[in-house]
Amino acid sequence: MSTQRNTRQRRKTSRSTKLLGEIVKFARSEAGRSPPRFLSALRSAFPRLSIHLFEAKGRRLTSVEKSTPINKLVTENDINACLIDRKAIESRSGAKTNLLVPVLVNGSASMLVLAVRSSRSTIDVEEFAALVNAYANILSLFQVSERDALTELFNRRMLDRTLPDRMLGLSSPRRRSSDPASAHLALMDLDRFKKINDTFGHLHGDEVLLQFSGLMKQNFRASDLLVRYGGEEFVVIINDATMANCEMVFNRFREKVAEHWFPDIGHVTVSIGAVRIERQSSPAEVLDQADKSLYFAKRSGRNRVCIYEQLGNEGLIKGYTPESDDASAYKEKRKLPTRRKPLRQRAKSRAGSAH
Ligand code: GH3
Ligand code: MG
Ligand code: MG
Repeated sequence: MSTQRNTRQRRKTSRSTKLLGEIVKFARSEAGRSPPRFLSALRSAFPRLSIHLFEAKGRRLTSVEKSTPINKLVTENDINACLIDRKAIESRSGAKTNLLVPVLVNGSASMLVLAVRSSRSTIDVEEFAALVNAYANILSLFQVSERDALTELFNRRMLDRTLPDRMLGLSSPRRRSSDPASAHLALMDLDRFKKINDTFGHLHGDEVLLQFSGLMKQNFRASDLLVRYGGEEFVVIINDATMANCEMVFNRFREKVAEHWFPDIGHVTVSIGAVRIERQSSPAEVLDQADKSLYFAKRSGRNRVCIYEQLGNEGLIKGYTPESDDASAYKEKRKLPTRRKPLRQRAKSRAGSAH
């Protein structure tokens, strides 16, 4: 009997260790920490359970997999008990037992895990809840260390950590079009901000930064990445836009800022330098190109958007390779009969040769 108990305990410990290992690995990348990845790690650690994960979006709970709605699986009372008491709730439903565990990120339930078991399978509630908590703790740590305290936008640390992964995740540039869709990064810098501080004081300056970040949250999409890069500089990354879209989106935002009335202060403007993010460029290179474009926006009168490729095509950037050359080089390569390595492999070997 005691040998059986020992074997069960050993199995449980090794499963917990394995899942903890997976969770710690999450910390390395944004994608790795994503809810679907966490869900699949839980499922592989507890194969006898049917596990669902729901994300809290406002007052709604939506399934990570767009499968069965939560209210078809558990009662409203159980959900509320779990959310209000902020602890695991077990309940019976016919021959099945449901375990609801909240994922508490910095005190608020940002997700709920539901584990359903039949009467023949068992679950160690404490062990399961402890593993969910380990994941929640990692998310909490990142939320605190990667957010700007004043504006609650992401901070530079988060951008530096995720930009390399974002660049690897980009699909290959669709060069057949003269203006292919891609991700774009914009560096935005408030105009004459020092004067605001000097005239109205630092607290009013902070209020401008806060309102400016509010305008960013209102005017960009939820899928865009919004970052306070430092001081009065901000970064936005938008996905899958042509250069023409990018110019339109950033100009529209620039106009919104210029129209906004900042109480006590009046109107404030912003200059923006934007660049297309290419698979082949390094994060430092992308930021440098955005910075060069921002410099042009400032030099040519402020309250304007300058785009790196356009400046390059106008001969304003030293050493710029015109896009048309890239396009013809791409066409030339396509004519060659030799097979090229898959993009991911090429990116890896580039990364390897860079060290
Ligand atoms: P430009 O149009 O060329 O960008 O002029 P500027 O005055 O905005 O540029 P500069 O870089 O000279 O000034 C930025 C100012 O932002 C200086 C700094 O004191 C202020 N600043 C940086 N961080 C903060 C902050 O967190 N709060 C406040 N209130 N001011 C800040
Ligand atoms: Mg500045
Ligand atoms: Mg400035």
